[in-house]
Amino acid sequence: MSDELDTRLSVEQGDITRQQVDAIVNAANESLLGGGGVDGAIHRAAGPELLAECRSVGGCPTGEARLTQGYRLPAKYVIHTVGPVWHGGGQDEDALLAACYRNSLALAAEHGVRSIAFPAISTGVYRFPLERATRLAVETVRRVLASSELPERVVFVCFDEATTAVYREILEGAADG
Ligand code: ADP
Repeated sequence: MSDELDTRLSVEQGDITRQQVDAIVNAANESLLGGGGVDGAIHRAAGPELLAECRSVGGCPTGEARLTQGYRLPAKYVIHTVGPVWHGGGQDEDALLAACYRNSLALAAEHGVRSIAFPAISTGVYRFPLERATRLAVETVRRVLASSELPERVVFVCFDEATTAVYREILEGAADG
């Protein structure tokens, strides 16, 4: 992988709602009406206007993405994507998770987003195995960036130390291959 690509990708530990980027990605559910985990944190930080806009969007199928304003967040936009619930791997979970990253990045590029932050989609309540999800996330984002100028910068924001460690290891490993 080229050095230029490596400078466009990074890992940070923290709260995605605090990220100073053009767009943050929400690991939402199909209703788009809010939930726990990162979804709850984003709705709390963005304020009630976000839920009102989500209501008007009318839901989002698994693997797809929808864009709203960021309201009280530092980020201008929230890109809501719905990761797959892990059922053991036989229900297209890998392809659906990769689609979340691809569709979110495509929507971001359409809106001129230069910087975007992703949480570890599906690895919380949806129980997707962390290493497998991280490999897919990194591979998919790298592949998109290699053929697209936007977004210029992608940050993987990990909430806890264990997730951060896995992301760092896989990102560094992928840089060698
Ligand atoms: P899913 O339902 O897609 O599994 P979750 O919100 O349960 O989504 O978890 C996805 C990931 O988001 C987990 O790694 C969780 O620790 C992380 N997370 C929770 N809150 C935040 C936050 N404020 N910022 C970034 N990541 C978060």
